Amino acid sequence: MLAHFLRLVYVLAKEFWKLSSSNIGGETEAREAGASTGASARRLVPAVCEVSVTNACNATCDFCSFAYDKQIVKDKLWINRAEFARALPILHRRGIRYITFQGGEPLLHPEIDGLMADTRAAGMRPALITNGWLLPQKIDCLIAAGLGTLVVSIDSHSLASHERNRGLQGVGERICQGLAVARRNGIPTMASVTVNRLVEYEKLPDLLDRLGFDAVSFSFPRRAPLGSSSLVYSPDSPLIKFETEELVRAIAAIKALKKRFTVQNPVVSLDEIQRHVRGEKEKFSCVGGHKYFYLDWNLNIWRCEAWSKPLGSVFDLDHIPDCRDHCTECMMSCYRNSSVFMHAGVALEDTMNALAAGRVGEAARLLFRGTVALSLRAIVGQAGQISKLGGYRKRVRVS
Ligand code: SF4
Ligand code: SF4
Repeated sequence: MLAHFLRLVYVLAKEFWKLSSSNIGGETEAREAGASTGASARRLVPAVCEVSVTNACNATCDFCSFAYDKQIVKDKLWINRAEFARALPILHRRGIRYITFQGGEPLLHPEIDGLMADTRAAGMRPALITNGWLLPQKIDCLIAAGLGTLVVSIDSHSLASHERNRGLQGVGERICQGLAVARRNGIPTMASVTVNRLVEYEKLPDLLDRLGFDAVSFSFPRRAPLGSSSLVYSPDSPLIKFETEELVRAIAAIKALKKRFTVQNPVVSLDEIQRHVRGEKEKFSCVGGHKYFYLDWNLNIWRCEAWSKPLGSVFDLDHIPDCRDHCTECMMSCYRNSSVFMHAGVALEDTMNALAAGRVGEAARLLFRGTVALSLRAIVGQAGQISKLGGYRKRVRVS
């Protein structure tokens, strides 16, 4: 039985190599350029890159050091559109197919729609994470440029508390307007909520429904400086000064919320974060620097925002090897959620590599792991929620 299964994987792998080498000029170029030996397999699981287009922000969020009133950002910096366009084929060769634009506040970048259009033209799907203040003015040109997913940060179940924390009086109305246009155009809308003391989880769905969100994703706060150019942390904010058990209870509340609203964090990943918070051994190694990257306004490419040294200039990415050292240092949720979702696909890629090299025993060991089953469970669990969104989309389009 096992031999039959491995043979099937082997045949699929061979077909996969053929397809990769005949159809995909970019991968061949990458191999010729000396990229790491997993270049062909990389294609099976598309990678993600978060791109911070500026360090400028127009908000005052208490738990973030980009906040303009903290005056930590002295020089406002902006990614250069022409240079970014030059970097796009390199990111594509690395298997990156999803780009998330962020900041600071990315809508302050005067060419944000141009950056997005260039990304689409290069064969990648752009998403945007914004505080929403400039959405009414910008949403039409973002949609025209190819916006794929719209993410807006929300800090509380109470709109008044959210607006106070952001220092953006009236932002709720602007978010509402922007989300309505996005939804009319079939673009998924997601709230991004940082776990903090302004949130009462059971009351959150009412506000999210009212504003027009399809789903919510939770991220976990960071008090220590990140080390990279990102400033999404605050050593002083009382809103995120959590004791271990308080954070564990917040994670339990997020799990409970799944019954009432579409929550993008899979339970398997929330379990993993609970283990991290309690200092227990974690199960999933992070895909940061392998399938997930961070690019800043200086066009430096980083393994992740929590790392203290960049991998280098994005223009050297063809020659920078994958990071595969099983890191579990932090709980940045975008990286850790993706690590759970991608784990099964990455295991299949590794299995194919091992089979191609004739290491059958290693191939079997890589594929038949409890974590692969858990990853599949997370994918299947989330697929139910995503298909609900798909049904909703169809209804919106025909109405
Ligand atoms: S969380 Fe976002 S909107 Fe708030 S200060 Fe930081 S970068 Fe600006
Ligand atoms: S666990 Fe944290 S520090 Fe480690 S690679 Fe992932 S995001 Fe970076």
